[in-house]
Amino acid sequence: MTDKTIFQKIIDKEIPSKIIYEDEFCIAIEDIAPAAPIHVLLIPKILINKISDSAKEHQDLLGHLLLKVGDVSRLLGIEDSFNVIINNGEKAGMTVPHLHLHILSGKKLSITS
Ligand code: AMP
Repeated sequence: MTDKTIFQKIIDKEIPSKIIYEDEFCIAIEDIAPAAPIHVLLIPKILINKISDSAKEHQDLLGHLLLKVGDVSRLLGIEDSFNVIINNGEKAGMTVPHLHLHILSGKKLSITS
């Protein structure tokens, strides 16, 4: 059996986190080392290592996650100004091999400047 990722331990409530939102399929928590004034991680409860490992069977879950990005942004009052980042693979800066969406707000992040 492979070791649980830190996110799986958070999902299983084995280690604490600041939970912003939770449902049957996903959990949103505050990032422990925020890269912006608001930095939340939206994490599916099942393990998909990275977005490029997702498959047809994950279609509903992936749609759910994107809908929840909007819901979480409204909960946080940042619905008009946030960025979503998904790191895919170690070489792209991914440190936890469990798919997660970074929701960042309060800092200008741009790929065009
Ligand atoms: P990534 O580099 O895309 O894999 O993102 C992993 C994120 O998880 C980083 O932004 C970390 O700060 C965050 N992180 C790691 N451990 C924890 C934890 N125990 N609670 C909340 N966030 C965490």
